[in-house]
Amino acid sequence: MIIVAIANQKGGVGKTTTAINIATAMAATGWKTLLIDLDPQGNASTGMGVGAGERENSSYDLLLEQATLAQCVQPTEIPGLDILPATQDLSGAEVELVAVEDRTSRLKRGLDQQGRKGAPSYDICFIDCPPSLGLLTLNALCAADTLMVPLQCEFFALEGLSQLLQTVERVQQRFNANLGIVGIALTMFDRRNRLTDQVSDDVRDCLGALVFDSVIPRNVRLSEAPSHGLPALVYDHSCAGSRAYIALARELIGRLPEKRIAA
Ligand code: ADP
Ligand code: MG
Repeated sequence: MIIVAIANQKGGVGKTTTAINIATAMAATGWKTLLIDLDPQGNASTGMGVGAGERENSSYDLLLEQATLAQCVQPTEIPGLDILPATQDLSGAEVELVAVEDRTSRLKRGLDQQGRKGAPSYDICFIDCPPSLGLLTLNALCAADTLMVPLQCEFFALEGLSQLLQTVERVQQRFNANLGIVGIALTMFDRRNRLTDQVSDDVRDCLGALVFDSVIPRNVRLSEAPSHGLPALVYDHSCAGSRAYIALARELIGRLPEKRIAA
């Protein structure tokens, strides 16, 4: 199983939208996919149509070792796509984990059950991170093979990125030497806005091939879909946003490490 963390400590940059739609695109391509909601706000869970009352066990229970992976994941409406939902008690996990010895490797430990007897198995897993660089995101980076960064084309985008890349370096040095960066995805791109264009050029100058060619446009269908509990790819599969996520998924597949088969 390949584990992809979707992280950026800034809120509202398109992490959850990317996680939901990339996971859906991968499942549609035939990859057995797990989407992990690691944000106490639970937007990925809601956006996948898993209401607050339908989240029996959550990523909190896996982190705190109160339930097994098999007990925490649940199917979604999308064939081939399971979700590990988030509940509000996840907001307490940052504090509760501080006292735990292996506090950065809890998620990794939980996911290590994947493919073992009695546990489900997946080709790929996406982790939708919260908007911070706290213990939850750290757990995601320690568990991940690689990181995908959604970046909104706005003035302070690069500033936040350098802080994220520093964190990645620290994680590589201390916890997870194999953590890679699979790419940076430009989100909410607006061709009519010159600042957006400028930032996109700057980011490409600065980071080159790390930036995915596929760009996610600002698209109202992408923002409407979650209120229907559906990925945009299902809500309106032919809108510009959905098409962009399909292209991005295709590009992602070409960049992933060879590690697809479960276990
Ligand atoms: P994050 O998870 O980084 O906080 P979200 O994915 O939740 O960001 O996106 C923040 C808000 O912007 C949400 O309301 C979402 O529906 C909307 N949004 C995300 N991507 C786009 C896009 N490409 N076009 C229009 N709206 C978007
Ligand atoms: Mg989010």
